[in-house]
Amino acid sequence: MIPVTKPFLPAEREFKAYVKTIWERQWLTNNGPLVNTLELKLKEYLNLDHLLYVSNGTIALQLAIKALDLTGEIITTPFSFVATTSTIVWQGCNPVFVDIDPETFNIDPGKIEAAITPRTSAILATHVYGTPCDIDAIQQIAHKYNLKVIYDAAHCFGTRYKNKSIFEYGDISTTSFHSTKLFHTIEGGAVFTRQPDLLKKMAIMRNFGYSGTDEFSELGINAKNCEFHAAMGLCNLPHIDEILKKRKLLSSHYLLRLNKLDVKFQKLHNVDEYNYAYFPVLFRSEELMKESKEKLELAQIYCRRYFYPSLSALPYVNNMEMPVCDDVAKRIMCLPLYHTLTLADVDLICRLLLRTQNADQNNVTEPAHFGTLITTQIESEINTGTVKIDA
Ligand SMILES: *Cc1c(COP(=O)(O)O)cnc(C)c1O
Repeated sequence: MIPVTKPFLPAEREFKAYVKTIWERQWLTNNGPLVNTLELKLKEYLNLDHLLYVSNGTIALQLAIKALDLTGEIITTPFSFVATTSTIVWQGCNPVFVDIDPETFNIDPGKIEAAITPRTSAILATHVYGTPCDIDAIQQIAHKYNLKVIYDAAHCFGTRYKNKSIFEYGDISTTSFHSTKLFHTIEGGAVFTRQPDLLKKMAIMRNFGYSGTDEFSELGINAKNCEFHAAMGLCNLPHIDEILKKRKLLSSHYLLRLNKLDVKFQKLHNVDEYNYAYFPVLFRSEELMKESKEKLELAQIYCRRYFYPSLSALPYVNNMEMPVCDDVAKRIMCLPLYHTLTLADVDLICRLLLRTQNADQNNVTEPAHFGTLITTQIESEINTGTVKIDA
């Protein structure tokens, strides 16, 4: 059986070594030493000055919305995981959807201005599948209309934009360290900001609003994480470069093998380093997508319709027509991609997909279309043998 994803697991003994120290200290949660160490190591790895480790990626978004005192309308993308929208509603704001770009699948900045009203307080955009939004264009609009910007960067661990971690952008960026994400701490997440006042506010909010032993300067919530989850993060972080490389290898293999398949891949915009978080494939029609999905399921290979349906169709929002998103959401499917997936698995998946379309399975020499930057990068790594991981 091949699922769409499997969590990365370090060797059991690596985790047990941390658990032993937890037993010795008897300090389980409340800003313990492993939580502190994980925050430090993540800052080092990502080359960031600040981040706050929190209990999950959903509460990270809630903290961001709350810390920025957002009210009224928040402009957002209809093409993301449900938490991007549900947190806006949960915080008492109204999501106003703006359609996506048909090639990057990220919010289309050219359509944002038309959606701005006097009640708009912010833009909340997702870098979908780990591919950066048009950050410059969004920033310009935010500046012009005095709006805050939050990025849901839940798919973005390892993605770099303009020589910096993508978590550096926006007033606040958030991420998730859930088990299904590329770097995980079982459950977990983080908020990022370069603004000291916001950082301090969220640090206090994360811990019930405590600003001293018996002092509460903010309305707070319980958004902290614990020593066991931090231990998993500390076990996984040393493997992260290997994880990223393996995903790159598998993705490049998919691209070469699927060269003749009549589908489109996500266009990567301006990305210095992409993390290969997902492998989405856009079919020509919903029927073709479903046909391929069913064919794979007969062989016990399970793809997922990420992201379907469009979030603008949720029962608790004002339904808005989003022609591009509605169309993409119907036709897109993510192929299996995880650390222990083998090249032979990828070959099998590709053979089945090609067979469904009766496509030529032999001629796979032409470089696949995935944006020139990435293709040449992968090709050169394959040619020079710098991507070398046993599958
Ligand atoms: C996973 C995910 C979340 C939620 O993160 P959790 O840690 O599961 O709460 C939010 N937004 C996006 C885009 C996600 O993929």
